[in-house]
Amino acid sequence: METRNWIGGEWSTPNAGEVSVRNPSELTETVGTLKLSSGAELLQAVDAARRVWRIWGKMTGAARGECLYRMSLLLERNSEDVARLASREMGKPIVEMRGEVARGVQLLRYYAAEGVRAIGDVIPSTQPNVMQYAKRVPLGVVAIVTPWNFPVAIPIWKLAPALICGNTVVWKPAEFASLTAAKLAELFSEAGLPPGTLNLVIGKGSVLGRTLLEEASIDGLSFTGSTATGMMIGAACAARNVKYQTEMGGKNAAVVLKDANVTMAVNAVLSGAFRSAGQKCTATSRIIVEKPVYDEFVQQLSTAMLQLQVRNALDERAYLGPVASAEQFRTVMAYVEQAKADGRTLAAVEAPDSELGYYIAPRIIEGVDPEHALVQEEVFGPLAVVLPAEDVDEAIELANRTVFGLSASVFTTNLANAFRFLDEMDAGLVRVNQETAGVEYQAPFGGMKGSSSHTREQGQSALEFYSAVKTCSIQY
Ligand code: NAP
Repeated sequence: METRNWIGGEWSTPNAGEVSVRNPSELTETVGTLKLSSGAELLQAVDAARRVWRIWGKMTGAARGECLYRMSLLLERNSEDVARLASREMGKPIVEMRGEVARGVQLLRYYAAEGVRAIGDVIPSTQPNVMQYAKRVPLGVVAIVTPWNFPVAIPIWKLAPALICGNTVVWKPAEFASLTAAKLAELFSEAGLPPGTLNLVIGKGSVLGRTLLEEASIDGLSFTGSTATGMMIGAACAARNVKYQTEMGGKNAAVVLKDANVTMAVNAVLSGAFRSAGQKCTATSRIIVEKPVYDEFVQQLSTAMLQLQVRNALDERAYLGPVASAEQFRTVMAYVEQAKADGRTLAAVEAPDSELGYYIAPRIIEGVDPEHALVQEEVFGPLAVVLPAEDVDEAIELANRTVFGLSASVFTTNLANAFRFLDEMDAGLVRVNQETAGVEYQAPFGGMKGSSSHTREQGQSALEFYSAVKTCSIQY
């Protein structure tokens, strides 16, 4: 498979270089080739989007919704192919990828229906014979920049609300998810999206970023990715007064209190820490356990870890596959070396040889200080730390002791402790007796503190980001 750009309804092959994509589960397999764009293609895409945005914006929400609904049918029909392609491209286990594609279908249907939902307010005027109302209008041309770790769900949870609100879109997917992005764009084209409504530009963020942030005439930008890139993008958008949204990293805590169902907590922690090889913004990366149950928890966790199967992402039995890329492998292995030097690994799990694929054995580390880099920095790999806490007060204080604020969970059977945690955690997603990952598609998603620019994705909240409020007043 070779990628092409989709600009103004035309497929074209850019020639600013190419990259061959290797399967992270099996490095000898080439999955496809990315044809890379320069800033010129990005500007063409923005022009194409600009030319048609008023036409798309004036279509009825129902007609826009029909396009999204047709896309949902096509994605459903092609779900196995899309899931397998993504697994081969970025190493997410096929079982998880199927779930992600199914979520993409749900998101498309949810936003398709939003096209006919009542939205806006009638505001009684203080003057006679004046009708006043506030309605939501599209922003115009929106740039969407997506990461590789959710190659289907994250693009769709941005594209669908952006399109249903009447915006046209320029989409720059992550390099390591570009084959999947090209497949999704093909399906959007088959679904009959009018030319120029959605434009796909494949290329490197390091090359296209400057053009996008300094030259492109855009009205909004939605980004998900690392904190470093997100902070830079946020500052550049603010300087040009472009509405923006940046969803960034996490260092999510699972807190296990002494009255917890320990087995439930162990299962949720394993899934939260190691599904997708820990490459989720909502992954559990700190486990804070109240001392009276610390030994029991650690013992059950160590035993359960030995059951984890690290395999080729296409193997149905894989609990986790490889990490996504050579770059990810190097970054995570540097943390693994720190962990070996400074902490104790709880259980020795086997992983396939890293010569075959970017496999990293999952690890839980104990014995490190709460200020240690492993406790404070986002690792984005199959590595989590466990820390003891004297009591509930200390557990909550430790859980909040981070610059991030994306997700947090507590395991408890005490209702008062559950509500206290919900009240006192400084995080956008706070959960009781559930893993840190897994928020439903119709609920707001996003972080506090250093995890987000404080807008929300998914559900109704996404519609607020992709539209502006216009106050209309008529004297009669
Ligand atoms: P990343 O390196 O920041 O890349 C994200 C996107 O930004 C990619 O499309 C990337 O393109 C692009 N990009 C890179 N440099 C750019 C620049 N100078 N200008 C414009 N765009 C640029 O992040 P990632 O490694 O793909 O994703 C992992 C991170 O995402 C983790 O930190 C994770 O926590 C976070 N994440 C957050 C959420 C959330 O909702 N909070 C969800 C998922 C992931 P290239 O790929 O071509 O470099």
